[in-house]
Amino acid sequence: MDRDLIRKEVLGFKAYSPGLNIEEIKRKYGLTRVIKMASNENPLGTSPVVKEVIALNAALAFRYPRAGTPDLCAAIGEYLNVPAKNIVCGNGSDEIIDLIIRLVAKPGEDNIVAFKPCFSIYKLQSQFAGVEFRQVPLSKDFHFPWDDLFQAVDEKTKVVFITNPDNPSGFCAKKEELEAVLSRLPQSVLVVIDEAYIDFALPQAEYSLLSDWQNYPNLVILRTFSKMFGLAGLRLGFAVLPDIYADYLQRVKLPFSVNILAEKAGIAALNDKFFYDQTLETVRAGREFLSMELERLGCKTFPSQANFLMFLPPVDASEVFEGLLKKGIIIRPLKSYGLEEYLRVSIGTKEENKLFIKELEEVLNGSK
Ligand SMILES: *Cc1c(COP(=O)(O)O)cnc(C)c1O
Repeated sequence: MDRDLIRKEVLGFKAYSPGLNIEEIKRKYGLTRVIKMASNENPLGTSPVVKEVIALNAALAFRYPRAGTPDLCAAIGEYLNVPAKNIVCGNGSDEIIDLIIRLVAKPGEDNIVAFKPCFSIYKLQSQFAGVEFRQVPLSKDFHFPWDDLFQAVDEKTKVVFITNPDNPSGFCAKKEELEAVLSRLPQSVLVVIDEAYIDFALPQAEYSLLSDWQNYPNLVILRTFSKMFGLAGLRLGFAVLPDIYADYLQRVKLPFSVNILAEKAGIAALNDKFFYDQTLETVRAGREFLSMELERLGCKTFPSQANFLMFLPPVDASEVFEGLLKKGIIIRPLKSYGLEEYLRVSIGTKEENKLFIKELEEVLNGSK
């Protein structure tokens, strides 16, 4: 059997299922307008400045990028006030997550700890690496139960993943709380704080550990260009990490995983303060509006510091999801997170948010 060649850890894997895309849904339900509020993408789309930079650099597509994208690392370093040598860029933060696991965790021996539910990539890449993945259930209100986490960590634990703000709940722990956790965990554990949504936390300085990056020899901070910077399709993320880990990540990383247009676009996005501010204001106002309106419609919401809201509808979640889909609105069912009763909606533009509420109200009224 050919299958004998496949490693046993991999046999149960399923390909990532992206769901229907906008065109498919238009055809299936005979719709002319479909809006997607499912993947936490930037509600304002791609910044006009970045579009122009991509167009201007299109002719460079035949060139290899420079290994390690040094110009981008320098730009990020300047932007965050961190030395460029402590920044490693990847093909989305997904790539960095995968590399960190394989850099430090020995297959069949070590383990990795995260909460449950958590971002699926932590688990998938741990399993692919042949490393035990331990999950500690979040508390009922979706806060982080630290004592349970400490109990799960042992001398074979190499990485702890914490998503802050968390996905899918939107909960965000304060910086002081995370500092206390870092001082309690042994330095032999890499503590990876995934700050994919930190740009939407207000005020950011109360939540981000970035200003602390030098204080802990085992702290890794992950960031992405996929959300605030509107570049999910170009695939660009990065880590801020201590010298030794940055050095070794650069050694093991595939040299050209960040493409030449992503590098140019990333640098342009960092300089586009106008788009950043516009996005932040859109998300802040939309988050407030949607929380209020969802509550008005009888949905329980959870306070969110991210660009999405998790909510508990008063009727069956899959019915609500299907009902919205037929009306051309795609949101995210949370079944794959083990949260069958919950839904997640990404904050859209003002018009999208209003339309979502209008259609949701109709779906809820129809199901009474
Ligand atoms: C969206 C997201 C990311 C970003 O992944 P990329 O590979 O950079 O697109 C990382 N972590 C979490 C928890 C996310 O939700």
